[in-house]
Amino acid sequence: SSENYDIIVLGAGAAGLFSAIEAGKRGRSVCVIDHAKKPAEKVRISGGGRCNFTNVNTHPSRFISQNPHFCKSALKQYTQHDFIARVDQQGIKYHEKTLGQLFCDDSATEIIQMLLDDCAANNVEIRLSTEIIGVSKRDTEFLVQTSIGNMHCESLIVATGGLSIPKMGATPFAYELAKQFGLNIIDPRPGLVPFMFGGELLAEMSELSGVSVRARIDTGEIAFDEAMLFTHRGLSGPAALQASSYWLPGNEIEVNLAQRVDALAALKKGREEAPKKKLASVLETFLPSRLAQSIAEQTYASFRMADLSNAKLEEIAKRISAWRLKPVGTEGYRTAEVTIGGIDTNDLSSKTMEAKNVAGLFFIGEAVDVTGWLGGYNFQWAWSSGYVAGQNA
Ligand code: FAD
Repeated sequence: SSENYDIIVLGAGAAGLFSAIEAGKRGRSVCVIDHAKKPAEKVRISGGGRCNFTNVNTHPSRFISQNPHFCKSALKQYTQHDFIARVDQQGIKYHEKTLGQLFCDDSATEIIQMLLDDCAANNVEIRLSTEIIGVSKRDTEFLVQTSIGNMHCESLIVATGGLSIPKMGATPFAYELAKQFGLNIIDPRPGLVPFMFGGELLAEMSELSGVSVRARIDTGEIAFDEAMLFTHRGLSGPAALQASSYWLPGNEIEVNLAQRVDALAALKKGREEAPKKKLASVLETFLPSRLAQSIAEQTYASFRMADLSNAKLEEIAKRISAWRLKPVGTEGYRTAEVTIGGIDTNDLSSKTMEAKNVAGLFFIGEAVDVTGWLGGYNFQWAWSSGYVAGQNA
C-alpha cells in the first residue's frame, strides 16, 4: 500500500505531536509515526508523573547549544505564556513549585490528553507501533518506508528525540537521518544526570545516601544553588543534575554545602560560645545532622571546639564551602533526562527549523542541539520548536 500526506512527523513525543497539531490547524494533512505503543511516554513519566510542562522564566540563557542565539526565534514565536494559555483553556490545574517551574496538580496524563484532543480536532493521524525502515527524497517528495507500508509527503518533520532512556525507546534515528541528508551532528552526551564517584569518596557519599542539602555546585563555567541529594552512587538532586549538563569528563566540581552561612565564622563563633562541645554538634547548627557527623568524622571528630586551631577551623570550613570533587562519570543515558548536542543548529533555520540545504526537511525537539536546564525548559523547547515547524512545513 502507499499513502500520501502533506506532512509526515516522525516521533509522537512532545515536539512531534505539537508540530502535527499546528500543521493540522493550517489544514495540512498530517500523519505522525512512532515505534512505541503509546504516544508521549516521556510526558507521562516527566516531573515525577506531574509534568513540569514549562517555566514562567523561560529565557534563551536557560538553554545549552553551540549557538546560544539559535533558540531565540522559536521561543519568541511560541512562548511559555502561549502554552500556559492553552493549558488554562483545557482547564488543567497546575501550580508553581519552585524557580518558576509549572507542574500539573494532578497528572501528566492531562497534558497528553490535551495533545491528543488537539490532534483529533485537527485531523492528525497517529500511527503507533510502526517501525521506520528508511527515508529517501526524490524531487520534492519524501518516501518513508515503514513496517505498515510506504508513505509519501512533501514535508518531513523529524522529532524522534535524543538518546536518553533507551528503555523507553530512545534511538539515534534523528542523528542518522540528519547524516544521511548531509547535516552535521554535535557529539551527543547525557545531561541532567546524576554524578558517580569512586573509592573513599563513594563510600562517604553512600553512607549519606538519602541526605538532602541546599548546595551550590560550581563547574568552573557556571554554578547552581539548589537542592542536592547524596545517593548510593554519588550525587543527584537538582543542583547536581544542572551541573552535570556543563560537566566534562575529567573535570572537578566545587561544592558549597552551606551557601547561606560563612562556615569559618560559624565555626569560630561555635568555639567561642561552646568551647567544650564536639565539632559535630557545632556543625549540626548549620548542616543536616548526618552530614555534620560525616564531616566531623573525616576531620576532627574527637576534638573539643576549644582545641581546634584557626588553621584547623579553616581546613574544616574549606571542606564545607569549597569541597572539590572529581566525579568518575555520570549515570549516562540510562537515567539522563536529556541529551546535550544533536543536529547542528548551523544546518537549520532558526525561524522555521527547516534544514538549510534540504527543502521540506525539519528537525525539532531534543534531537536538535538545544538543551534546556532542569525546570520545564525542555518541554518549552519541544512546544516552541514544534510550533515553528508546524507553521512552516
Ligand atoms: P521525545 O519525547 O523523546 O519523543 C521522541 C519520540 O520518538 C518517542 O515517542 C519515541 O518513541 C520516538 N522514536 C524514537 N526513535 C524512533 C524510531 N527510530 N522510530 C520511531 N519512533 C522513534 N522536561 C521538562 O521540560 N520537564 C520535565 O518535567 C521533564 N521531566 C523528565 C523526566 C524524565 C525521567 C526524562 C527522561 C525527561 C524529562 N524531561 C523533562 C525532558 C523531556 O521529557 C524531553 O526533553 C522531551 O520529552 C523531548 O521531547 P521530544 O518530542 O523532542 O522527544
